[in-house]
Amino acid sequence: MQVRTRFAPSPTGNLHVGSIRTALYSWLFARHHNGKFILRIEDTDFNRSQISSVQSILDGLKWLGLDWDEGPYFQSKRLYRYNKIVDTLLQRGNAYKCFCSIEKIEKERQQQILKGEKPRYKRTCRNLNIHNILQKNYVVRFKNPIIGEVTFYDKIRGKITFENRELDDLVIQRSNGMPTYNLCVVVDDLDMKITHVIRGEDHINNTPRQINILKSLEAPIPIYGHVSMIFDENGHKISKRQNAMNIIEYRNNGILPEALLNYIVRLGWSHGNQEIFSMQEMKEFFSLESVNKSSSVISKKKMLWVNKHYINTSATPHIVDILKKHMEKENINIKNGPRLESLIDLLKNRFYTLKEIAQYCRYFYEDFSFSDKKFIQTYLVFDNCIILEKLYQKISQIIVWQCEHISKVISIVAIECNIAVREIITLLRISITGDIVSPSISSVIFLIGKEKVLFRIKKFINYIQEINCADQRS
Ligand code: GLU
Repeated sequence: MQVRTRFAPSPTGNLHVGSIRTALYSWLFARHHNGKFILRIEDTDFNRSQISSVQSILDGLKWLGLDWDEGPYFQSKRLYRYNKIVDTLLQRGNAYKCFCSIEKIEKERQQQILKGEKPRYKRTCRNLNIHNILQKNYVVRFKNPIIGEVTFYDKIRGKITFENRELDDLVIQRSNGMPTYNLCVVVDDLDMKITHVIRGEDHINNTPRQINILKSLEAPIPIYGHVSMIFDENGHKISKRQNAMNIIEYRNNGILPEALLNYIVRLGWSHGNQEIFSMQEMKEFFSLESVNKSSSVISKKKMLWVNKHYINTSATPHIVDILKKHMEKENINIKNGPRLESLIDLLKNRFYTLKEIAQYCRYFYEDFSFSDKKFIQTYLVFDNCIILEKLYQKISQIIVWQCEHISKVISIVAIECNIAVREIITLLRISITGDIVSPSISSVIFLIGKEKVLFRIKKFINYIQEINCADQRS
């Protein structure tokens, strides 16, 4: 038997971490078993389905490399098929037309609630023998068995049993002729030969209903695995219409796709104590039995930790490709400075995201002004000009532009001026980066290049002089 799984999102909001986890587990399960992964867009709720959500699903899956073997199938294009099955169920006596008005059903419902009973349809039309009734306004209901039970062995949660008497005769076709969710899922899972349904635990209650419909169609019953909920850091269930961040936002924030997948796979699945998984390892080790039954909580801190790991360990050309896009977004012209490869080597273990790197490294490519940097006040003394002049002179004399020669110049100037190396470095940092913290200053100087470095030192000297002259005048 070939394993066939599916991801079946409704395009009614953002594709978020929770949906991606469902997609990832279905995808990994299919890949682990050399099976097929099918993408199906459940867009029959015309009022809430949005083209932009469909796009967000496709973009998100593509960005993460969760490729599908079939689809995307759109339920909205398969209405004829669902309605055909409704007819079949009607003909076989597994479904019936219900002519009860909404008002009548609502009244019954209220009465049941008042009596403390579980509200459900009273099956008034179940045994009506009038199929050709002229009244056009009806819904079609599935004739759910009244006695017995439905048991399925959930791959994640174990044996689950529902009493049939707990289940309603659910509507499978509305009065406007539109098939309902449970029917569409059943028909699709059947037609698409789905062997394993992996989805959120919010669908557990649908499963016995779907199994009963499948049984009445004499169709094979897939194996089910219901994945637990994910909560945000405030303890709220993540929801595509409320607190959930669109998956593409993670890309915009400088998260690497492989890091996000690695982070998400661990939200409810484990393999010993291992935290970092290559794609190959995920496919190799993944099993539904190791998916956790309890809910998971999103941790931004852990996601950033995983991302930092990937920034540090991924092949540089891969990081360069992605960083380039972030630099473009920050409007930094990378032609005006060091090659991104060298920049990444210098910065990769200092930051959690590529966006942070892009935002940090502007001074490698652009000059800046000292006037908006309040913290440099204490450094604007004439004595520093003497040190900076010396640095200027010695740096201009470096013939072979190498980090070790730059470091040597710093030590020599420290000795000649009789001050600590650390102070020299601070002056250089301010002149060249506009800040008092930076990666190794000789590496920064090396990457920015002699000409620009000299220009910035001179600019700082001029600035100190200007400020002091202005002070003297006033
Ligand atoms: N369309 C449903 C959803 O987005 C999933 C249905 C299913 O997986 O059976 O929650």
